[in-house]
Amino acid sequence: MGELPGVCALGEVVHLWQRDVRDDERCGCGAPFSACRFWQLVGERAFGGWHRVDVYRVLALKEAVERTRHIPRLAGSRLPDDLRGLVEEYAGYYRAIYTAAAEVSGATVVVDSSKHSALAHCLRWAPDIDLRVAHVVRDARGVAYSWTKTVGRPETDGADTMTRYAPGRSALLWNAHNAAFGLLARRGVPVLRVRYEQLVGAPVDELRRLAAFTGVDLSGADLGFVTGTYADLRVGHSAAGNPMRFEVGRIPLRHDDTWMAALPPGQRRLVGAVCAPLLRAYGYPLRATGTAGTGVATTPGDPR
Ligand SMILES: [Zn+2]
Repeated sequence: MGELPGVCALGEVVHLWQRDVRDDERCGCGAPFSACRFWQLVGERAFGGWHRVDVYRVLALKEAVERTRHIPRLAGSRLPDDLRGLVEEYAGYYRAIYTAAAEVSGATVVVDSSKHSALAHCLRWAPDIDLRVAHVVRDARGVAYSWTKTVGRPETDGADTMTRYAPGRSALLWNAHNAAFGLLARRGVPVLRVRYEQLVGAPVDELRRLAAFTGVDLSGADLGFVTGTYADLRVGHSAAGNPMRFEVGRIPLRHDDTWMAALPPGQRRLVGAVCAPLLRAYGYPLRATGTAGTGVATTPGDPR
């Protein structure tokens, strides 16, 4: 989406406070956060400079309001009194960044790819954020397999790796986060469900659907950067997120179904059983066989 006209992709802003403002990890452009001109301009506009942000205050607010366990209280029709001030203050930090990033980049849409459902529930209470949520789902068994892999974090120059989870825990997290996004939709927030398998299968169509959802005008836009098999990506300034954000140039688009052969049958059955209701609701076949390519569901009634 960051390649579309009028769109600025920020990466996972939820991790910016700790990894970038505090630890000075590398931006998607390759520069340390403190040396990235884009983020320095954003910090100046938003806060009068990053040195004026009390990171420990933001992290304390995060702990106080933005945890999955707080979602039942955030998701009510009225925000409880003891949460209101904290949620407003916490969401205010994000609003400041979104506004400044839009001004610096000239974009009308900023994309925060933080995947924390609790953050979306907090932002729901910020009246001046026009919140639209692209809810990207992937087959839980593919997600569980992915979480078992050891992946380095280039932004730390090899000092750290991405979090790993056992498949049973992944299954529970998959359920909790996806259910939380469903709840957000029931509270009236515009939520567009995008299946990973469909996104890599028909990227141009899905991109058009996302553009329409976010109000991005594609008339006259050049979508030649993406085809069914690759995307040409320019350097961006994503602050944190998956290590593949550092890749630029021609990126192959391929449905990663390694899990079908690599996830042991016992674990596949466990994850399939724990996630069965939502897998079914999203149109995934419960009995995924080991044959590559069967992970994309044929759905009786499109769940979107
Ligand atoms: Zn940068």
